[in-house]
Amino acid sequence: MAEKRYCPYCHEEMEYWLAPPETGWGYIYVCFNNKCKFYRNSSDNIKNKGEDQRHFAARYGEDPANNFHPINILAYNPFVKLENG
Ligand SMILES: [Zn+2]
Repeated sequence: MAEKRYCPYCHEEMEYWLAPPETGWGYIYVCFNNKCKFYRNSSDNIKNKGEDQRHFAARYGEDPANNFHPINILAYNPFVKLENG
């Protein structure tokens, strides 16, 4: 049963989202706000893993099956160049 959860970084309502099966997460809450500072700042942490990773960032999520433990959801980030340029 979905409940309303709000991102602690941008305070937008998070989506109740079925994660890809390989993640093993099942339904999780995810902040899909492209302006979220967690998402916007996360690419810095991933950048040093290589050229191909530069456009990926982590969205903020919470796992309801694990007491809403915070998790990072890797996602394409088209804003990286804007921020660095
Ligand atoms: Zn957010």
